[in-house]
Amino acid sequence: MTRSSNMSKILQKSFDTESFSREEAMEILDLSDDCLLTLLDLVYVIRKKYKGNTVGIQILTNARSGNCSQNCAYCAQSRDSKAGISKYRLVPYEKLLHDGHIARDKNLARHCIGLSGIRFNDSEINEFADYVKNLKKEVGTHICCSIGFLTLQQARKLKDAGVNRINHNLNTGRNFYSSICTTHTYDERIANIRMLQGIGFEICCGGIIGLGESKTDVIDMLFEIRDINPQSVPINFLIPLEGTALAAADTSHLSPEYCLKILCLTRLLMPKSDIRCAAGREVYLKGKEKLMFYAVDSIFASGYLTAGGQSIEDTIKLVTDAGFQYKIESA
Ligand code: SF4
Repeated sequence: MTRSSNMSKILQKSFDTESFSREEAMEILDLSDDCLLTLLDLVYVIRKKYKGNTVGIQILTNARSGNCSQNCAYCAQSRDSKAGISKYRLVPYEKLLHDGHIARDKNLARHCIGLSGIRFNDSEINEFADYVKNLKKEVGTHICCSIGFLTLQQARKLKDAGVNRINHNLNTGRNFYSSICTTHTYDERIANIRMLQGIGFEICCGGIIGLGESKTDVIDMLFEIRDINPQSVPINFLIPLEGTALAAADTSHLSPEYCLKILCLTRLLMPKSDIRCAAGREVYLKGKEKLMFYAVDSIFASGYLTAGGQSIEDTIKLVTDAGFQYKIESA
C-alpha cells in the first residue's frame, strides 16, 4: 500500500471516530517530511468538516504570577525558578477589565486567565470569583481559567461566578511526568479534570512538546487527552526560559515539519475539539505558520504567561492572510 493510501485510511478513521492505534499515530509522526503537504491537505478536510474555516483567537492575562510551590521544570513561576519575572498575588481588577475589553472590542474568541499556584484557600477563590462575576457583568466575554487543583466547593463557586472553561494541562506523557515534576502526580491532574468535567465545566487540556520526551511520550499524552475529550487542546512548543530547569533544553528537533505533524495528529485524534497552537509557534514554525491552520483552529495573540508573542493586529493579519476568518464566540 502506498503512503498516501495508508494515510487516507487513517483519515477515514478520524471521520468515523473509530479508534486510532498507537502504531498509526506513530506512522503520522514518522512520516517523511516530503509527505507533509499531503498530510496537511488530508487533515484540512477534517478540520473543515468540524471547524469550517474559522480560527479562534484568545488573549491571556496572567492574573497571579510566581511563588508557586510546585517544581514544574519548564515553568518560570515554579518554586525552583530563578527567572526574572514579576511576582504578584492577584492583578488589580482594572487589569482584567482592560484585557476583557480588548477581547470584546477586537472580537476575540475568549479571555483566558492564568493563576500561578496549585492550591488556593477559600478566601482567594472568593476574591477571584468576585472579579469574574464583575467581569461577566461588565464585559461578558467567554472566560477560561487556569487555576491549579480546586476543591469541589471552590470549583462550584467559580462556575456560579461565570467561568465557562477551565484549563488544566497534562503537559506530557504519563511515563515521562516524573522527569518534569515531582511535587504532584499525573493522576492528581486527571482527577482534578474529571471533577471539573463532572460539574459541567468545559475543559481545555493540552501539553508541551520539547521537554525531553520521546515520540512515544507525545502519543501517550495525546491518547490520555483524547480519553478526557476536552473542548479545547492547546499544544505548546517549549520556549526554554532563562532561570528555569529547562533553560538549556535541546529543542533542535522541533522543526516546523515535526511541529506540524504533531498538530495534524492532534486534529486526527480529536477531530471535533478546538486544537490550539499555543506557545512557541512564533519560534518553531518559522515562516510556515500559515500551514498550521490546516490542522488548528485556535491560537493565542499577545504572548503567553511569561513569554512574549505576536501582537493582536499581527495575529489577525496572519489568520486573514492565510485565507481564514477569525471567530467571535459568545459567552
Ligand atoms: S505550571 Fe503551574 S503548578 Fe507548575 S510550577 Fe508553574 S504555576 Fe506552578
